[in-house]
Amino acid sequence: MTNPFQHLYDECNSGDSAAKLKRLPSFPTHIDVELTSACNYRCLMCPTGNLSLQRPAGFMSWETFDKIVEECTQFGTGIRFIGWGEPMMHPEFFRFVRRAADALLLTHVNTNGSKMDDYAIKMILGVGLDSIKFSFQGTDPASYAEMRNIDAFDDLFHKVRRLHMMRSSPSPWISISTSVTDEHPSTIEVFKRKFGGICDQLSVGHTTFDFMDLSAARLSEEQVARLNDLAGRQTVEKKHPACPEVYDKLSIHNDGTARVCCNDFDGITDLGNVNDTPIEEIWKHAYDMVIYRRILADGGHDQLANCKDCYNYAGLHEDVE
Ligand code: SF4
Ligand code: SF4
Repeated sequence: MTNPFQHLYDECNSGDSAAKLKRLPSFPTHIDVELTSACNYRCLMCPTGNLSLQRPAGFMSWETFDKIVEECTQFGTGIRFIGWGEPMMHPEFFRFVRRAADALLLTHVNTNGSKMDDYAIKMILGVGLDSIKFSFQGTDPASYAEMRNIDAFDDLFHKVRRLHMMRSSPSPWISISTSVTDEHPSTIEVFKRKFGGICDQLSVGHTTFDFMDLSAARLSEEQVARLNDLAGRQTVEKKHPACPEVYDKLSIHNDGTARVCCNDFDGITDLGNVNDTPIEEIWKHAYDMVIYRRILADGGHDQLANCKDCYNYAGLHEDVE
């Protein structure tokens, strides 16, 4: 059993940016669709959660999504429900997944798991979703609660375990990701032992704050001080990546506007709107996209507002083991 998106991630993560520019596909291999920029959590390390996001909260319309699926169908492009909000808060989430699955497109969702009650689990198992990733934080209830502002670690564990138990086929692929701040390495091993048995993939990364303006976050003084302290003590190597985004993937915000990359949470790039411009045209000709590809192929991350703080510690994939 392998991750159904693995061949796409392998392609994204292979070769340097200059090589990827030369073999640019005629259409994105997968698209991140932001169903909503609203979220029911108030995570400290997320611009949606800490209310520093400059865009208003919104929900994607059926018409916009239908058009995306229509255009993706001829290319077999994978759809990932990923954005700066909780996708399962969209009132038509399951209808959207079904639409893409019926078009034989690969589907994936990243979720905080808060909406995974028994009804949702049955729907997940019935609508044809290929892959689901549950986002944890930290390695135990205390470290989760500190960063996510809610004590839901154990509840999430039980929800994932229930989905894993109720699944009678290998689908959907279940992955769990967490990221750590200053947890002791021994707690990471405990986390891996406990959670490894209820998922197909498990990843542990580093919580990063470089990409965010902490002064814009609506947090208490103590919380900002804590984040600044953690940011100052990061020991990971800060090395710019071969860009895993602009040569393979497109990100579309909930109003239909395409962006160069999922890191562009405030929408400082504008590739056009899929409601009035074909995705193929956006992909091939949108000015920002063309410029980003050229500059990144020359290693010019520092010239680009979205990229100067992009260290992408884990690359575009879902697992480390
Ligand atoms: S659950 Fe996800 S989208 Fe929601 S605030 Fe937390 S990190 Fe942001
Ligand atoms: S921030 Fe820039 S370098 Fe990083 S993934 Fe996005 S486009 Fe690529």
